[in-house]
Amino acid sequence: MRLYNQLTKKVEKFTPENPQNVKIYTCGPTVYSFAHIGNFTSYIYWDLLVRTLTQSGYKVNRVLNLTDVGHLTSDADDGEDKLEKGARREGKTVWEIAKMYSDAFLKDYRRLNLVEPTKICPATEYIKQQQELVDRLTANGYTYETADGIYFDTAKFEKYADFARLDLEQLKAGARVALSSEKRNISDFAVWKFIKEGEKHAMRWDYLGRPGYPGWHLECSAICHAELGEPLDIHTGGIDHIPVHHSNEIAQTFGAYGTKLANYWTHCNFITIEGEKVSKSLGNTYTLDELAVKGYEPLDFKMWVLQGHYQSERNFSFDDLDGAKTRRLAWRNRYALALQFGYADHHDLHEQILAATGDNLNSPLAFSIIDQTTDLSKNDWQLIDQCFGLGLTDVLEPSRELLEMIAERDAARTAKDFATSDKLRDEIQAHGYTVLDTPSGSRWQLAA
Ligand code: AMP
Ligand code: ZN
Repeated sequence: MRLYNQLTKKVEKFTPENPQNVKIYTCGPTVYSFAHIGNFTSYIYWDLLVRTLTQSGYKVNRVLNLTDVGHLTSDADDGEDKLEKGARREGKTVWEIAKMYSDAFLKDYRRLNLVEPTKICPATEYIKQQQELVDRLTANGYTYETADGIYFDTAKFEKYADFARLDLEQLKAGARVALSSEKRNISDFAVWKFIKEGEKHAMRWDYLGRPGYPGWHLECSAICHAELGEPLDIHTGGIDHIPVHHSNEIAQTFGAYGTKLANYWTHCNFITIEGEKVSKSLGNTYTLDELAVKGYEPLDFKMWVLQGHYQSERNFSFDDLDGAKTRRLAWRNRYALALQFGYADHHDLHEQILAATGDNLNSPLAFSIIDQTTDLSKNDWQLIDQCFGLGLTDVLEPSRELLEMIAERDAARTAKDFATSDKLRDEIQAHGYTVLDTPSGSRWQLAA
């Protein structure tokens, strides 16, 4: 297996520390609103990663966090906590907001047939571990205190800029003067925020004798340490995580434990929607429910995502989603034909697919192999479903009554009684099926 690694900026051979326990951590959602198709793009690609590893014989141990506290509306450690903002918007408590959107996220996660992580970790269940991490950072001389919190001094971590190839001088020059705070360096970040007198922040914990809450970046280092241990084999996220969030995770873990957080860092690119940046104010943030209203199943969207490579910037359009939906239906109908014709297995198919997906997750190449290999068997399609989780084989076979109706249509057609055969065809269609006439007789298919 080969995988792009942000540490080296190269596609590398993947060698896990222990093939029987491949440790993966995925930065999860901030549960303050419904996740949109941009968010799910990343989880679909990590599903491909996990399935490819599992199919290649590795045993995966994967943790996903849920950010239910501390993610501010700005990356610069100011702005409002997103959960508090969600609670105010909806007249609910922060805990209700976290529960509601965590449940909604996990429901959509399952609708996309995404392999369940070994463990899902809400940040608020790891407050003690996060405080211990700050203790260690302070003991090791990496922190300083300001009026609003405890900050990580990035100047103390020599390699801070390497991961994202940050140009710190340019960052400093570009920073808005109005944002000047007590930060010593432009890239310093809060590991703990203090709650001032009178400040409304419902989620609060005592630390060093005063109320506060963790900085957003802290949870991932703390959860990785508690649940997996360093070094992880693979840490995943979106490209937006590279310059701040992941650079910070790496710095914290090194500062606290003196170790490397992960051996491989893999990021997926962003999608645009109809040529625009995905944003709430443009009203182009579709949820899976909104796609369903327009007639697209979650797995049609998954098909669209996997048609592209995780590192390429892609533009989502409904025309392209139509194409993915049609292709998925065509594959399900090929499975339906495999059931009726009893084709022989293609013994090299698994190897061919894994050669593609194992080469830095080249799902588009794997898909073209599937397109080009004719007469795939029932087993072949089941294997394809294991590799991609596209629900291709959960095809409902027609009832006995329907099969009889199909036979009657065939007989009417042979007798050139086209009025009857057309009427029967319409009835069959109303049940969700069509009839395909082949040289060896008719076969049922799923209707569009
Ligand atoms: P959030 O729940 O806001 O923390 O978002 C979770 C993650 O979804 C982000 O950090 C990105 O990695 C990913 N994401 C958000 N928008 C997009 C997009 N348009 N395309 C791909 N990934 C996205
Ligand atoms: Zn993270």
